[in-house]
Amino acid sequence: MVRKVQALLAVAFLAALVDVAAPAAQKLPNIVILATGGTIAGAAASDVQAAYTSGQVGVDQLLAAVPQTKKLAVLRGEQIANIGSQDMNDEVWLKLARRINELVARQDVDGVVITHGTDTIEETSYFLNLVVKSKKPVVLTAAMRPSTALSADGPLNFFNAVAVAANKNAAGRGVLVVVNDWIHGASSLTKANTTAVQTFLSPLRGLIGTVAYGEAEFFRGPAGRNTMDSEFSLDGVTALPRVDIIMAYENMDGKLIEAAVAAGAKGIVIAGVGNGNMTQPALDALAAQAKKGIVCVRSSRVATGRVGRNVEVNDDKLGLVASDELNPQKSRVLLRLALLKQRSLADIQRLFREY
Ligand code: ASP
Repeated sequence: MVRKVQALLAVAFLAALVDVAAPAAQKLPNIVILATGGTIAGAAASDVQAAYTSGQVGVDQLLAAVPQTKKLAVLRGEQIANIGSQDMNDEVWLKLARRINELVARQDVDGVVITHGTDTIEETSYFLNLVVKSKKPVVLTAAMRPSTALSADGPLNFFNAVAVAANKNAAGRGVLVVVNDWIHGASSLTKANTTAVQTFLSPLRGLIGTVAYGEAEFFRGPAGRNTMDSEFSLDGVTALPRVDIIMAYENMDGKLIEAAVAAGAKGIVIAGVGNGNMTQPALDALAAQAKKGIVCVRSSRVATGRVGRNVEVNDDKLGLVASDELNPQKSRVLLRLALLKQRSLADIQRLFREY
């Protein structure tokens, strides 16, 4: 009997040794890279010059430049576009969103990384946050320095973005943006510096998490409804309604507001002064358009803070909408999706509160 127990213990000990010596081969997650261009794919004639051109490097070169990602995931790439994100447009947005929705519906895709320019990444990520239908990680990344620069930031940003997309813990936090070791939520981040590598901030809500050489730490869930919980869908959508942003300033009149409507705007976002304010003539012009059914949203040109209803402007009386936490560029995204169907002003105000 004692012998039998000893033999069993020996077998168990050997099995444990084998386990330590050769851990079961871990199946790496499948991540698809969708490249759209930007400085991360940019190139300059020299490694120490400011002038460069965005969108010069293809997705295969981008992948080849960071072979370290092979330890994190099985990657394959697709080129959606190759443009500076200052040129981002509806055609690319619709193509990108459709492709992501196709990919995340597949069993053999665990996450998606999108490479993008920094100029409009906050708008694209927020748009995707509203129209992607999945809890799987969808992560955008970018770079401030072109791929040819001394101390280019793209490779590590890309590595970290793949690590976050491959991390099961990233699921269900909405669309994420990973730049310079920080994980931002799409509804919260904003570009805060024209040239610095540390340009993205999430001023009101804070970070979703951090990532250091692929090691991610998550602090919070998403702010606002998103992805699976979003009521927006691109099914049957071939075009998005025109919404213009107009900045408020000293001595502003109503001419630009009228011009926007004459150009076909169905909605207007005012990047107001302070708490979404503007001059009386501008406010009169805005209220006149609101009366005609143009949806007018008051946001702010101030870098951070909410725009509240009925503070210095009587939104109830004038038929206006307050942007709540959304800056002008994100307000425009939400309003364009909201205008895909007929809605009351109260319903549009609800959207600004919930998303
Ligand atoms: N203009 C570039 C872009 O948005 C800037 C960048 O990527 O950093 O594509």
